[in-house]
Amino acid sequence: MSVAVPMADPAAEYRLLKAGIDQAVHRVLESGHYVLGPEAEALERELAAFTGAAHAVGVNSGTDALHLALVAAGVGAGDEVLVPGFTFFATAEAVTHAGARPVFADIDEATFNLDVRSARERITARTRAVIAVHLFGQCAALDRLQQLCDDHGLALLEDCAQALGADYDGRRAGTWGAFGCLSFYPTKNLAAAGDAGMVLCRETAHDETLRMLRHHGSREAYVHQRVGWNSRLDELHAAILRVKLAHLERFNDARSRNAQHYRERLSGAAIELPLEHGHGRHVYHQFTIRSRRRDAIRQALAREGIASAVHYAVPLHRQPAYEAANRDVSLPVCEEATRTVLSLPIHPFVGAPAIERICAVVRANA
Ligand SMILES: *Cc1c(COP(=O)(O)O)cnc(C)c1O
Repeated sequence: MSVAVPMADPAAEYRLLKAGIDQAVHRVLESGHYVLGPEAEALERELAAFTGAAHAVGVNSGTDALHLALVAAGVGAGDEVLVPGFTFFATAEAVTHAGARPVFADIDEATFNLDVRSARERITARTRAVIAVHLFGQCAALDRLQQLCDDHGLALLEDCAQALGADYDGRRAGTWGAFGCLSFYPTKNLAAAGDAGMVLCRETAHDETLRMLRHHGSREAYVHQRVGWNSRLDELHAAILRVKLAHLERFNDARSRNAQHYRERLSGAAIELPLEHGHGRHVYHQFTIRSRRRDAIRQALAREGIASAVHYAVPLHRQPAYEAANRDVSLPVCEEATRTVLSLPIHPFVGAPAIERICAVVRANA
């Protein structure tokens, strides 16, 4: 069944930017240069400029961005990395792929982001890094997390898969930590036509290591300094992303306007609206409300052809892949969130009339 209001609409974005995207795709196809060429280099420069990062290294996906950043940070076997228990699975998966153990901390009730006190309580002699996830498009408490990492000699990594363009106290997401990891998965705010990602970093040595890791541990042709990966950025994706990056601010503004519409039309309804912490821009990758009647609201929306989503239904310490190692772990705020959250469509193409319909259904079923 086709959904009248989808959660994301990549095809609508393509129709809007078709002329520029088609031109970019043809330019790459005719160049004969398809992997890590001039488009990837230009995108790296443009994203470094956009975020204020010193370096940007294109990779295959957001998951690889996290994985390679952890390896570049020196995280490996025997290490522990603090991760929020409420995020997309890939955040923890990257830690496991690096050979380390994800240690799950609870989240802050108001923002869904890492609770600094809970993270502090879980620091051990083996802890090497913290991954701050900027969930739904709003930055975690980066000032306090940076302080925590400085106090304990830990590396701070930012999972910015949902937060490109967000900022915290005037600094863009991805430039607080030693590494900022971006995803360009087709539903993200900046989206490729397939999988792609990028790592932002401050130190030249990290930049060099990441370039080596993504290309079989090689700096010069057919000489391999170490065992690396094949995690390179494709030219087609880079060229498409460059066209879209020029519109990202406008698309993020449209998301903010949609959020404002939701707030106006849902004010006073028997649900909880997402909170803005006031430290900087929220880019509304998702607009996530909370309600004990979440499932009833979701079904009523579906009957009207309106998509919604539960981000996320299972906390990471209760995922089948991680459950056995975390039987004693209790993260009450994460667990409560999984029972009440509901994300409503907020992409730039939703439009005010659809939002009015959605709000009427939410109100009638709240
Ligand atoms: C999408 C996402 C990722 C993974 O990115 P991919 O490009 O799909 O590998 C990681 N973390 C979070 C929070 C995400 O939303």
